[in-house]
Amino acid sequence: MSDNILSVIPTDPHWQPDPGAADRTAAVVAELVPGLTDGFADVQVSWHDAIMIVDCGANLERIGCPRCAGSVDPNWWTELLEIRGDTGLSTLLAHVPCCGAELSIDTLEYEWPCGFARFEIAIWNPGRDWFTGEELTALTAALGRPVRQVMAHI
Ligand SMILES: [Zn+2]
Repeated sequence: MSDNILSVIPTDPHWQPDPGAADRTAAVVAELVPGLTDGFADVQVSWHDAIMIVDCGANLERIGCPRCAGSVDPNWWTELLEIRGDTGLSTLLAHVPCCGAELSIDTLEYEWPCGFARFEIAIWNPGRDWFTGEELTALTAALGRPVRQVMAHI
């Protein structure tokens, strides 16, 4: 059986909220995800010491390089996930395989979006589509910092 995970993360990969802001944001999530009250969906709120890769799983179609406009070899990404998927990253800087440039990997163009974060609200099988702009604004207000979203299929 496969799962869909809709994640809400701060746009700043290093930033972490205090518990109060996290609780407020989780409460907004609960209002926006009907499946939570029905018991179909599940929410995990997590803090991490290292920067975790918030991967979109099977939804990943392409990674584009902003430096050379080429495509980043998907095997490079798979390898990075295998090595750093559980432990996280101490830095976002990496040499990309397409042109060898050293850049922050959160500036790569992920289709569908992927993210990097030390705080995550993951909604398992939300039974709904992406949050709308208006909903993201509400989540941003609750968290106190801008948020973005990642939709994973695993
Ligand atoms: Zn490149």
